[in-house]
Amino acid sequence: MFTGNGIILQSSLLDLPGICHGFSTRFGGVSTHPYTREMNLAMGREDEDDTVRRNGEIFASALSGGALHMENLVSASQVHGTDVRVLSSENCGEGFSVPAGEDCDGFVTDVPGVLPIIRIADCTPVLLAGRKADGAPVVGAVHAGWKGSGGGIVRAAVEKMTALGALTESIRAAIGPHIGTCCYEVGADLLESVTKMAGEAFAHAYCIPRRIDENGVQKYTADLTGMNLHWLMTAGVKREQIDVSPHCTMCDPVTFHSHRFTGGKRGALGAAVGILPGYAVSPTNP
Ligand SMILES: [Zn+2]
Repeated sequence: MFTGNGIILQSSLLDLPGICHGFSTRFGGVSTHPYTREMNLAMGREDEDDTVRRNGEIFASALSGGALHMENLVSASQVHGTDVRVLSSENCGEGFSVPAGEDCDGFVTDVPGVLPIIRIADCTPVLLAGRKADGAPVVGAVHAGWKGSGGGIVRAAVEKMTALGALTESIRAAIGPHIGTCCYEVGADLLESVTKMAGEAFAHAYCIPRRIDENGVQKYTADLTGMNLHWLMTAGVKREQIDVSPHCTMCDPVTFHSHRFTGGKRGALGAAVGILPGYAVSPTNP
């Protein structure tokens, strides 16, 4: 279940010892431009970089109870691919307090104090948390637009987490606010592209005929939630370990940044997950 505190949304499924996470809203930040206010977490979108850094500090602090800061965040230029990077403490601050590293659309880490963040405004944010056999946490953050959702970037992230030692059966996922099936109308070109990526059965399951438009052209509804659920479950994550946000970004542009609603004149939401600094597994802290 997703709950909010006026600044961030959190999933009860990821409320786990040693782990902190959050999905930003438009509230609580210091951006003043009409496109980006109040909380914009992407550089290069109307705000001064320092404004975005201040928003990063507010967001990181809000989701971690003050334990993590802007300098802990790690972001990268997102390229709608399926590459997932493994982060260490050397990556802290990338894209915020130090230059960004390699482009990618997902991150995993098992290092406390590293806070990967992905940016979205209609695309799907997925946050992941799991544990190793000794109880040590492993986390992941994924940006999945239709390309990442069709291409299965969440499956790639789960595989990187298990490569770090996470037990598949321990992995939980929270699919955050994104454009819902209520609003995500697409053309036959997208159906074709998804077919090439993931096959006909997948494409027809998640790109469903919607209406014939005024020019007699067939339109489709793309189901990003369904695509990501498919790949998560293919990777071995149980359905009951996956939380899905009920929010559609385009239906509620007051609360969320929506690329479609604004025609691109918008800021960016963030989704981040990390392991609290100093967290160590112990017999009383399993
Ligand atoms: Zn909607």
